[in-house]
Amino acid sequence: MADTEPLIKVEHVKKYFPIYKSTFHPERNRYVHALDDVSLHISKGEIVGLVGESGSGKSTLGRCILNLEHIDSGAIKFHDRALYVVKGNAIHELAKKNQMIFQNPYSSFNPKMTFYQVFREVGKVYGQSKEENENRIQELMKLINMTPDYLDRTPQELSGGQLQRLAIVRALMLHPDFVIADEAVSALDVSVQAQILNLFMDMREQLGLAILFISHDLNVVEMICDRVAILYLGQIMEMASAEEIYKNTLHPYSVALLASKPRSNPDEPIHREALQGEIPDAVNVSPGCRFYSRCPRAKRGLCDRKMPELKDVGNGHLVACHMV
Ligand code: ADP
Ligand code: MG
Repeated sequence: MADTEPLIKVEHVKKYFPIYKSTFHPERNRYVHALDDVSLHISKGEIVGLVGESGSGKSTLGRCILNLEHIDSGAIKFHDRALYVVKGNAIHELAKKNQMIFQNPYSSFNPKMTFYQVFREVGKVYGQSKEENENRIQELMKLINMTPDYLDRTPQELSGGQLQRLAIVRALMLHPDFVIADEAVSALDVSVQAQILNLFMDMREQLGLAILFISHDLNVVEMICDRVAILYLGQIMEMASAEEIYKNTLHPYSVALLASKPRSNPDEPIHREALQGEIPDAVNVSPGCRFYSRCPRAKRGLCDRKMPELKDVGNGHLVACHMV
């Protein structure tokens, strides 16, 4: 189970992508506000869900944490060392260990290489001895419950679920403390999803791994996450333990997301607070609440003018809404 010492701390991170730059008129520069003052922490052995519609900034946060993207301000700390200011080899040491698992396992493997060749190469690049590498491969094949003869196969011989399990092996080769799963089960059938979700829970139990679990699917998140952060247009709207988020949903955006969940039974009424319309772009953001334009509870003169602070309403339940 999660202990209390945070492994990763994301502090007030901003990431703006320039989409238009004017040489003579900097006031005309335009940016996508992909992350705007995002803070969260992940402890050892904790699975934190990051949920939001497409375009809300989930993958960008994952990429910033792994230093695949430079942040504009704030800090990302790993064991209390600021990741993005660590220079030279140190950054390599930290960055190499922590890995990302993506949605499409077909595109994340070289179709011409056997899995054994892939895992050998990962070991070689990062200086694992042959013995250490072999042992790790065997150990991880056991964890994912696949026999070693799969190692001689190539990606096109396997199913999506098998490939995703092997992608997990690759991510764990270097004994990371932390992995990011970015929509890692979204492309899989429901029955296969369940197997992979169980595997993530095993990874947490057996290896004490911390996981940032990115998904737009609230059902999946509810099943495996300890805590959940709801992201909308680059800002956290609500964050709490998974139990609290589902039982005591406070932010109108979270309510809408939950109401937009596919109904398990066609006779269930369509929830009136379900999300309407498309997510707006994150370029011309208003000074008020990001959710103002789609919010059923918005109050003019307040919500469109003043950005709500993310405040603690008790039990570590954080909400950014003037109406709560
Ligand atoms: P999500 O993973 O939640 O779907 P992303 O993190 O991929 O969202 O994207 C957040 C926002 O940042 C989107 O508006 C997206 O178009 C924009 N974005 C992401 N990467 C880039 C980039 N390299 N250049 C410009 N805009 C980007
Ligand atoms: Mg994404």
